[in-house]
Amino acid sequence: MTEKSYDVVIIGAGPSGMTAALYASRANLSVAMIDRGIYGGQLNNTAEIENYPGYKSIKGPDLAQNIYDGSVNFGAEYVYGSVEAIKDNGATKTVITDSDEIEAKVVIIGSGSDYKKLGVPGEEEYGGRGVSYCAVCDGAFFKNRDVVVIGGGDSAIEEGIYLSKIANNVNVIHRRDQLRAQKVSQDQAFANDKMHFTWDTNVVEVLGDENKVTGVRVVNNKTNEESIIETSGVFIYVGLLPMTKPFLDLGITDQDGWIVTNDKMETKIPGIYAIGDVRKKDLRQITTAVGEGGVAGQQAFKYIESIK
Ligand code: NAP
Repeated sequence: MTEKSYDVVIIGAGPSGMTAALYASRANLSVAMIDRGIYGGQLNNTAEIENYPGYKSIKGPDLAQNIYDGSVNFGAEYVYGSVEAIKDNGATKTVITDSDEIEAKVVIIGSGSDYKKLGVPGEEEYGGRGVSYCAVCDGAFFKNRDVVVIGGGDSAIEEGIYLSKIANNVNVIHRRDQLRAQKVSQDQAFANDKMHFTWDTNVVEVLGDENKVTGVRVVNNKTNEESIIETSGVFIYVGLLPMTKPFLDLGITDQDGWIVTNDKMETKIPGIYAIGDVRKKDLRQITTAVGEGGVAGQQAFKYIESIK
C-alpha cells in the first residue's frame, strides 16, 4: 500500500473524467485520474461518432486518444487502479483502490455506466459465445452471419448500423413498434437493406447448442405468439446501469443508483463532484460529458481556493 496525495482525484478516465483532468491541471492543480481500464471509457466501444463538434465523423478510440492527449498536456496523471471506496474526512478525502490509498482535496466521480443485462435464460450461459454487449469488440466474429440486436435506443440502432457492414442480416428486435433512437439514426437504419425489424416482441430466451448461440425464443407481446428466430449473434442494448457500487454508502445516489448533483456538478458532500454518464440526467452524450467535466474541473479549483 503506497500513500499518495493530489489536489484532485478523478475516478474514471472517460470523456468527462479526461476533460475534468484537463481543466483542473490547467488551473495548476495536481491531478490524478484513476481507471481500471484503458482511458476513453465507452468511446472504445463506439464505432463511428457523428455528433461530436469539430468532426464530421470520428472513430471512438481515435476521439479517446485525442481527448487523452489533451488531458495530460498540463501534468495530469493517469493511474491504473480499481476504486473500492471513498472516505470523506471533511477537508480531505481518501480514495481507496485495490492497491493504494490516495488523499485528495477534491474527488470527481466520472465512473460511467455499464450495459444492462436482459435477464433471460441463456444470456449469461452464452456470454462470449454469441451474446455480446459490444458490436465494435465482437462484430468481426459475425462476418456474413445473421445477428439480432435487442433494443430500440441509440445504442441498439447505431451498433446495428455498424453490424450491418459486417453481418449478412441484422434483425432489430424491439418490445414496442417505435424506436426511441434519434431520428437521423432511425432514417439510416430504415434505409439500410441489411437491417430488418421485429416489432412488439420480447426475447424470452437465448438458445444454443451448448457451444454457441443458435437462436432466440421470442414472444409477440400483442398476439402472445411464440416463435424462434435463428441467429449466430445476440447483441443486447437495453439500457444502462450506473457504476456506483463503491459510492452507495455516501448517500449521494438516487433510488436507482445514479449520482445526484446540481448544475455545478456538486454532490451533497462538499468536495465530491460527479460528471458524465454516472449522473442522474436526461441526455447522456459525449458532448454533455465533456461539458460537465469542464464545469467540475473549474469548480474543483474554486473549492480548493475556498478551503485554503
Ligand atoms: P436507452 O436509451 O435506455 O434505450 C434502451 C432500449 O432498450 C429502449 O428502446 C428500451 O425500450 C429497450 N429496453 C429496455 N429494457 C428492456 C427489456 N427488459 N427488454 C427489451 N427491451 C428493453 O439505452 P441506450 O440505447 O443504451 O442509450 C443510453 C444513453 O446513451 C441514452 O441517453 C442515449 O441517448 C445515449 N447514447 C447516445 C448516442 C449518440 O448520441 N450517438 C449513442 C449511444 C447512446 P423502450 O423504448 O420501449 O423503453
